[in-house]
Amino acid sequence: MSSIDWPARARDLAPAFADRAEQHDREGSFPFDNFADLRAAGFYGLTVPGRFGGAEASLGTYLAVLEQIARADGSTALAFMMHLKTFGQERESPSYPPEWFERMCTGAVQHGQLVNTVATEEGLGSPAGGGLPDTTAIPDDGGWRLSGRKSFATLAPLLHHLIVLARLPTPDGQPPELANFMVLRTDPGLSIDETWDSLSMRSTGSHDVVLDDIHLTPDRLLNRRALGQGDARGSAGMAWFALGLCATTIGVASAARDYAVAYARERTPNSNRTIKEYPGVRSRIARIDLLVHRSRALMDDASRAWEHRPQHGPPAIDRIVMAKIDTMNNCIEAVDLAMRVVGGVSLQKRRPIERYYRDVRAALHNPPLEDRALDQLARTALDEPYEPPKAAE
Ligand SMILES: Cc1cc2nc3c(=O)[nH]c(=O)nc-3n(C[C@H](O)[C@H](O)[C@H](O)COP(=O)(O)OP(=O)(O)OC[C@H]3O[C@@H](n4cnc5c(N)ncnc54)[C@H](O)[C@@H]3O)c2cc1C
Repeated sequence: MSSIDWPARARDLAPAFADRAEQHDREGSFPFDNFADLRAAGFYGLTVPGRFGGAEASLGTYLAVLEQIARADGSTALAFMMHLKTFGQERESPSYPPEWFERMCTGAVQHGQLVNTVATEEGLGSPAGGGLPDTTAIPDDGGWRLSGRKSFATLAPLLHHLIVLARLPTPDGQPPELANFMVLRTDPGLSIDETWDSLSMRSTGSHDVVLDDIHLTPDRLLNRRALGQGDARGSAGMAWFALGLCATTIGVASAARDYAVAYARERTPNSNRTIKEYPGVRSRIARIDLLVHRSRALMDDASRAWEHRPQHGPPAIDRIVMAKIDTMNNCIEAVDLAMRVVGGVSLQKRRPIERYYRDVRAALHNPPLEDRALDQLARTALDEPYEPPKAAE
């Protein structure tokens, strides 16, 4: 564990990220400059275990750092989250061979190598839906040959370690099998197709990754499971991922809140009243604060529950999905209200609030999606063994 105040260090980087955000967003360019700053400030190893030279930051510190970065640039925060969460999940719930985990860790700390999971495909959609990927690994000479195309590969311009989900051929009558493979940026046959041109989080570099008959030695198989069997990262995977999305989204909404508050305090149309005097503006600002504060409270509650596993109340994993659902909806509403406070000029491209309005939507489309999250809560309430409420004493 390090004694560095990582959220304060992230806050120091934020002004430069905020200055660069508009141009990267307009051009859809990847913020290599921000990532160079993050690397120089030691953030690449933030969640890496201490035994590999990392800071081994807690879940709470990771969330605080992401929120600070997202206040300046949502794309940088979301993209960086994909790297950081890998180590947090794996620390708690090992799912990869130790040699590969060590290589990912030392790669990040010593060589500035970034990692992400590359699972989604155009035809498959989200693997969380339970479908079978088209990307296939065929056994070959003791190893594997891997072919396919992945979409939404966030961080693609900088990734070194790509954890790729593929199907394995199985004999007729056997259930289909899935596997994760380690693919390196330097592997012949790997290329990036720069397809990412999206409404929001435009600078995350979430391009397509093309895997053209890549030859992999046997050690590249990280893990395998039957279709329908849970991911080996289990609930730890959900905790670091879903709460990271919450922190990123709260950061974007907080930036919109601050913009609307500053605007309302100063904007005086050609009349004698500053707009903060109008009841409609006042109640919208108050409501924004309620929504953002409620989201942060739910995220903090879930993060504490995950770290300390409370004896009472909903299980930690249910609190995590509650935080995810509510944060997405609250923050989208909060930024919408901020747009209404600022008025017509909130639509101008030269104002960052227009970008916040688009960026705040992105995490909605990352797991756990609302329907599946609600289904999980319903299962806990309706299908788990029932404990009647205790009478009040
Ligand atoms: C900014 C951004 C970054 C991303 N980065 C990455 C990344 O780095 N790596 C990666 O692998 N992926 C990434 N993704 C992809 C993401 O995780 C999802 O896979 C992707 O958004 C598609 O999910 P979907 O549920 O919308 O699509 P689909 O699976 O096509 O689903 C479409 C709709 O049908 C519903 N649906 C589908 N199946 C079911 C079901 N079984 N039960 C109920 N409802 C169902 C969904 O809820 C959704 O409403 C990223 C996405 C975004 C937006």
